[in-house]
This record gives sequence, structure tokens and C-alpha cells, in this order.
Amino acid sequence: MASTAAHATSASIIALTAAQVSPDQTGYIAAALIAASVLDLDHLIYVLRDWQMYRREGFAGNLHNARSSFHELLGLLTAGVVAGGLSFFDARLASVVLIAFTVHLLEDWFLGRTIPFAPLDQTLVQYFSLTQKQKVLIDILILAISGGAWILYLSAGS
Ligand SMILES: [Zn+2]
Repeated sequence: MASTAAHATSASIIALTAAQVSPDQTGYIAAALIAASVLDLDHLIYVLRDWQMYRREGFAGNLHNARSSFHELLGLLTAGVVAGGLSFFDARLASVVLIAFTVHLLEDWFLGRTIPFAPLDQTLVQYFSLTQKQKVLIDILILAISGGAWILYLSAGS
């Protein structure tokens, strides 16, 4: 899984570009950043709950346990319902939120492991078997690419 910072920068810029938000529309930009990272609040809850285990064994390779069912298909379903509701008021806001949220989920699913049908079914799906070092490298790469995309995005508007 990617770090929250990598999610926040990459998922938000993809959503803003796809929904054609201009750099001066700060409300949408804030919404994209929030929707891109809000999901990882569930890590915090689990980490606080399982603090003893994390102190003993460390975070590396264990953080996937600190995910609620909202990190799986259920989360996508929930985001779809939320975006559906939002679209009655602000269709662009709905796209920004849904895209940012979905990209975060896809990044976690492809780079980490997923229990797609949690909480109904506990089958674990893992696409790649990456080492911790490779995950860190991918994270840095995502940060660098999306950082560059952000600079281009913001400078195109000025
Ligand atoms: Zn996540």
C-alpha cells in the first residue's frame, strides 16, 4: 500500500485533472485532497486499538491489518452512494470525490493486498509480492510523479 502522502498527492491530481477543475477552484481542490486521504483515517483507529502489537512487531508489512472494510469494495460502494447524493447538488464535486477516493482504493489494491468482499468473505487477493524496499521505492516514485503533475497543474493556471 502506498503512504497517505502518496495517496493524497496522486489521487487528488488525477481527480482534479479528470473533472477539469481549474487551479483557482480551491473548494474542489480541498475536496480532492480530503477524498484522496480520508480513507486512511481507518488505519489510525486500528493502530490505536492494536498499539501493543505494532510496538512489538513494527508497522512494516502489518499495516494492511489496520484497514476497515471501507478499504475494500464496500468502500467503493459507499463512495458511489455518497457521490450519487452529491451529484444532485454539484456534479463536479461528486466526480472529484468519487475519482479521488477510487484512485486511493486502486493504489492500495494493486500495491498491497485486498479482501475484496470483506466483511462477507475473507478471501485475500494480492496481485504483486513486493518487498518493503520496493514498496518504498514505488511510494517515492508516486510522490515524485504526482508532485511534478501538481507543479504543472498549478503553473498552468497562473
Ligand atoms: Zn489506504
